Amino acid sequence: MNNLRVRLVLWTVALEAISLLLFSVILITFIQRRETGQIEDILRLSAAELNAVVDIQGSQYIVSPQETTDLRTRGVMAWIIALDGQPGFTVGNAEMYPLPNHVPPLEEMRSGELANGTPIYLFNTALTKGSRQLGSMVLAFPLAESRRFVSHILLALGIGIPLILLLSIGGGLFLANRALAPVAVITKTAQRISSADDLSRRLDLNLPDDEISRLAHTFNAMLDRLELAFQHERQFTADASHELRTPLGFLKTQLSLARSRPRNAVVLQKMMADMESDVDRMTHLIEQMLALAQVEQGSAAPCDVVALAQLLQQVVQDFQTRAQTRNITLTLNCPSRIDIRLMGNAEQLQQVFSNLIENGLKYTPEGGEVDIGLGRNRQQITVRVSDSGIGIQPEALSHLFERFYRVDDARARQSGGFGLGLAITRAIVQAHHGRITVTSTPGNGTTFTLQFPAAFLPS
Ligand code: ATP
Ligand code: MG
Repeated sequence: MNNLRVRLVLWTVALEAISLLLFSVILITFIQRRETGQIEDILRLSAAELNAVVDIQGSQYIVSPQETTDLRTRGVMAWIIALDGQPGFTVGNAEMYPLPNHVPPLEEMRSGELANGTPIYLFNTALTKGSRQLGSMVLAFPLAESRRFVSHILLALGIGIPLILLLSIGGGLFLANRALAPVAVITKTAQRISSADDLSRRLDLNLPDDEISRLAHTFNAMLDRLELAFQHERQFTADASHELRTPLGFLKTQLSLARSRPRNAVVLQKMMADMESDVDRMTHLIEQMLALAQVEQGSAAPCDVVALAQLLQQVVQDFQTRAQTRNITLTLNCPSRIDIRLMGNAEQLQQVFSNLIENGLKYTPEGGEVDIGLGRNRQQITVRVSDSGIGIQPEALSHLFERFYRVDDARARQSGGFGLGLAITRAIVQAHHGRITVTSTPGNGTTFTLQFPAAFLPS
């Protein structure tokens, strides 16, 4: 059954029906026990009264009718039976009927019926005078009244329970409709959003603060994130196309120029060198985009044991020549005796450190310093890359890790950067369950801090 409201109501009503039936069974059992108990009390009381008033003279039982008035008004009837089994005399309506069949054994009670089929409750007890047994008495109480009472209750339950269940179905459907109405609105709106392919629409529901409104808010929050992600994707494609168009344009111009008229070998050499640098630039961009996509897809899982001090030494060494040509002091500070290892992807981590050191060198004027520090405590491993460079304006800090973001577009483009280095860096750090933060003072220098949880260390 696909309809939630019908399923809800059916389940509720089924549970209610079971509870009501159980309640009815308990109620009827209780009433029947109580009725039987009361009849037994009446029969015992009547037996005691009768025993007190019956006398015997010879073989004749003597009872004055006045003394059995109470018994008769109660509706009790009794047969007195002599010791030899012969019927003695009767009290009340017993005179109209023979002694019923199936009389219970002495001092016991059971239900039975009169000769005409009327249901009765029987009590067989001894008739005594002091310690002498004079015979036995069989007392009977008609069950008609009690049975009628029980059948009235059964009738009331038989009518009442289906009525209650019908009301529950009606009420349940009404409530379920009311409660689920916003879900239908949410579904319709969501369908409209997906069919219009318009992620800027939102569910605009005026709901009390309940589960459904929380669902709507969650849905809206999800749309916010989706819209943002789509915007980023579109921006990325636009930026990437833009970045590729420039070198392609140069390449096309160089080619047209080269082919426009015959040129000597030296000029052609120069033109081809320019074209090669454009191709290199495009290759670099595509490599960076691929690297970013790879990290974001999580295709290269961090699963090597990487000795960070050695890796950093290697990267610093690779950049040493470049630092020296720019007269920048590039130093690595790490506690030499401590073996700091991280579970990660060595190639990606090397790229992280290269990107940061490259930036440090690129954005630090000649004569400056780039300093790398490595340390760890019980919780985390920290890598710091600080430079004494140009620094970054505070308003730019929050955009630094965005794809294709450059603080100073013109200068960064000149220096060959695409603004992808830090985006790749952050993606790799996050894939390693780490965090990257930046602090900077314009004109004074910048520090990038990487923190990796030590819990990811191999033991
Ligand atoms: P590439 O894609 O080649 O790395 P990029 O270096 O320009 O190009 P990012 O590394 O992402 O790109 O850096 C983004 C921007 O942040 C840079 O353009 C630069 O303006 C700024 N930046 C990054 N590192 C520093 C730094 N150490 N000092 C000053 N500015 C920096
Ligand atoms: Mg960079």
